[in-house]
Amino acid sequence: MKPTTSPHIRVARSKIHSTGVYAKKGIRKGTKIIEYVGEKLTKKESDKRADVALDKHAKDKNNGAVYIFELNKKYDIDGDFYFNTAKFINHSCNPNCDVEISNDKIWIIALRQIKKGEELSYNYGYDYEDYEDHVCHCGSDKCVGYILSEDHWPKLKRSLARKKKKR
Ligand SMILES: [Zn+2]
Repeated sequence: MKPTTSPHIRVARSKIHSTGVYAKKGIRKGTKIIEYVGEKLTKKESDKRADVALDKHAKDKNNGAVYIFELNKKYDIDGDFYFNTAKFINHSCNPNCDVEISNDKIWIIALRQIKKGEELSYNYGYDYEDYEDHVCHCGSDKCVGYILSEDHWPKLKRSLARKKKKR
């Protein structure tokens, strides 16, 4: 299988983390940029794989990232494959892309107008559990320090404030 491509992007060294994906030209808000492809898994299989990946990550922070996406109530998609170009899109706390699921396909879409040469990013939407294992290096002025779903930011900020007081 050939790696997926899109007329909107090019893959290059990232300013955030290892490899990244950049806008080849201006991208209009709402554009479906690239599909996030991989292997369709049952929830049971996907839980198993996520555990293995998190285990690896706990031992080596540069390894074992989780690339599993919820597709629907029954299935997930594991995108940890060389042919899934979308997996190189980094997380950001102030992203220019979002993930949209339509007709059982996962799409990376433009959250706003994106300029040529901008690095693409979206919020990985990680759970609060073990957030400390996923330090964020996105460098945006909105960065909360960890790769975490925005839903959990208030909880994170309260927790960090408590830790500061203890010191
Ligand atoms: Zn960040």
